[in-house]
Amino acid sequence: MTEAIVPHVPVLIIGGGQAGLSVSWYLMRAGIEHIVLERHRRFESWRNNRWDTFCLVTPNWQCRLPEWSYNGPDPDGFMLRQEIVDYLDGFAESFDPPLREGVDVTHVSPRENGGYCIETTVGNMTADQVVIATGGYDNPIVPPYAADLDPSIVQMHSRDYRRPSQLPDGGTLIVGTGQSGVQIMDDFHLEGRPVHLAVGPAPRSPRMYRGRDATNWLYDAGTYAVTIDRHPDPLKALTQTNHYMSGRDGGKEIDLRKYALEGVQLYGSVAGASGTTMAFLPDLEKNLDDADKSYLGIRKQIDAWISAQGLDVPQEPPFEKVWRPEQEITEVDLSGAGISSIIWAIGFRPDYSWLKVDCLDERGKPIFRRGVTDAPGLYFIGLGWLNTWGSGRFLGIDEDSRYLAEQIVARQKNRLAA
Ligand SMILES: Cc1cc2nc3c(=O)[nH]c(=O)nc-3n(C[C@H](O)[C@H](O)[C@H](O)COP(=O)(O)OP(=O)(O)OC[C@H]3O[C@@H](n4cnc5c(N)ncnc54)[C@H](O)[C@@H]3O)c2cc1C
Repeated sequence: MTEAIVPHVPVLIIGGGQAGLSVSWYLMRAGIEHIVLERHRRFESWRNNRWDTFCLVTPNWQCRLPEWSYNGPDPDGFMLRQEIVDYLDGFAESFDPPLREGVDVTHVSPRENGGYCIETTVGNMTADQVVIATGGYDNPIVPPYAADLDPSIVQMHSRDYRRPSQLPDGGTLIVGTGQSGVQIMDDFHLEGRPVHLAVGPAPRSPRMYRGRDATNWLYDAGTYAVTIDRHPDPLKALTQTNHYMSGRDGGKEIDLRKYALEGVQLYGSVAGASGTTMAFLPDLEKNLDDADKSYLGIRKQIDAWISAQGLDVPQEPPFEKVWRPEQEITEVDLSGAGISSIIWAIGFRPDYSWLKVDCLDERGKPIFRRGVTDAPGLYFIGLGWLNTWGSGRFLGIDEDSRYLAEQIVARQKNRLAA
């Protein structure tokens, strides 16, 4: 028999990933009674929604959960999927959070006398305060025209991708050059499988530069400490795809021009599809140039920091474009080009359809300041740029959850005092 849910908790945290459990850590320390509800198992996204060769793109030293910083032998390395899960399991075991797994929260709405009414798959409850830590990766995005593709072309979203052998023999077209797209492309390429890549507008980053990982330089230069309300271009920060690079084989830069020289067929962004025909925008050259501009911009930023500090570190050779497209391909017959499968790596949309509280904008995006919404006692955590670059990643979650826990504790104390 399923155990009934508690009828009331002072604080409910929805989502048992790194964000939800970091808030739980701070609430435990403050002695605030709460519960974490997780629809699958803790750290489900890392456990089950990543491919076999997945490794972090950010270096291990950035894994800094509350009093649980990475302390393995390779701080400058990039943990593999199972190592990430082990690191996270160790964190959860370090404080034994009040986590209930296998419980889906299906409805949250305001309660008449304050607080919230919650419906779950194991019963209803109420809470004075609610933290939404459900991540930003609920609904895989697939364009509507994907439905018009011939059924002989196997289609998959990056979330379901595990290994090249899942896909039929022949060429695979990967759509999207965010971090997932380029890493999955690399996975196919390293296996010697024919791979085609639709290159979108994502920026890219150097990996090792002037003797250190670019992220180490940027950290020292204070880039990751910039908050969204002090960011010189907040709209760009909020809408831009992540810079692509890889943590594979100890970390490597991804220059798509080099992959083109090695046989990866590049196209511009996908414009539409029907039957076995795929249409592309003539923007390949522009997208490669723009990615290089962001890459060179980061190099310049690091150079400026190095010279301001007067550091004596090695120079790098100037960047060279090793390849450029001779023509823009705007239409391809997939069967004719030997392409038997497509992987959509164009991102995700969060799903707040269960949230019946006035805290979302007209596009369904949460409105908050540092995760605190205008709805009394309702918070978000774990979203990109909630406060800083690191907010949707390992790096910023400790600071964000500490701040949020402080707000929660203050509100709970005020309630008790009233
Ligand atoms: C492909 C990929 C690569 C990434 N690589 C890096 C990296 O290299 N470095 C880095 O720092 N970050 C990386 N990230 C970003 C980030 O660290 C992860 O997305 C991380 O999983 C976010 O943790 P979270 O707790 O916010 O969300 P999640 O891990 O997504 O946790 C949310 C949890 O909420 C649960 N849930 C959702 N809805 C409900 C509901 N209604 N009821 C109950 N439970 C619910 C889900 O089952 C899930 O377990 C990557 C993300 C992706 C997608």
